[in-house]
Amino acid sequence: MAALPYIVGNWKMNGTRGMLNEARAIDRSAARFPKVQVAIAPPATLLYRTREAVEFIGVGGQDCHAYDSGAYTGDISAVMLKDTGADFTIVGHSERREYHAESDEEVRVKAEAALSAGLAVILCVGETEAQRDAGDAEAVVGSQLEGSCPRTEGAVEKLSVAYEPVWAIGTGRVPSVEDVAAMHKSIRAKLVAIYGDAGAEVRILYGGSVKAENASELLGIADVGGALVGGASLSAESFLAIVGAA
Ligand code: PGA
Repeated sequence: MAALPYIVGNWKMNGTRGMLNEARAIDRSAARFPKVQVAIAPPATLLYRTREAVEFIGVGGQDCHAYDSGAYTGDISAVMLKDTGADFTIVGHSERREYHAESDEEVRVKAEAALSAGLAVILCVGETEAQRDAGDAEAVVGSQLEGSCPRTEGAVEKLSVAYEPVWAIGTGRVPSVEDVAAMHKSIRAKLVAIYGDAGAEVRILYGGSVKAENASELLGIADVGGALVGGASLSAESFLAIVGAA
């Protein structure tokens, strides 16, 4: 049976308590779309309250530390995310890779920590514009997957991969249908190389300037199993339009 399309809102560093109203609105409406799996990743400060406020949608973190506890001021572990009631966490988002200099290796260890804490994982990969222009996009993404895919036993069952071209995030630009299709095909081949047959079941999401206007087209591309949505997930109205398109 094919998995349901998975639409995930990444709120990034946005949202204080007032945003819980958006979470509630998303949750109420998501209940009307049983053929779509919907989730949001609010900032960590809102995770617990979001979990309490919603019933139907998944709730997750945006990052986690590689260790469960310790002297790491300001960091949040996967165990702590799980303790708030989170279902999953994003790891390896390009904003983490860029602003926090996270390496593939670090992302892999984070993903493995999340899985061992009982969270599902959305692992982000994606090339920069210069890498695409140089014709290296597939090689870059392949090497990110090689370095950052979790290798723990059973990892593959709780893993989704989000392909997010860095140049498409928050810019309003999206790759062509052909380029998304080619990249998802290449990611699929890499996942099968890493995990064997089980790699065929991993959901591959597209992320980067997904909006109500382009969602149907993007979600209709072969092997696009859902979307990771930033800006357009901050209002229930625009996010639900994407859920509706799925
Ligand atoms: P965007 O962000 O939808 O605002 O482009 C996507 C993301 O960074 O996950």
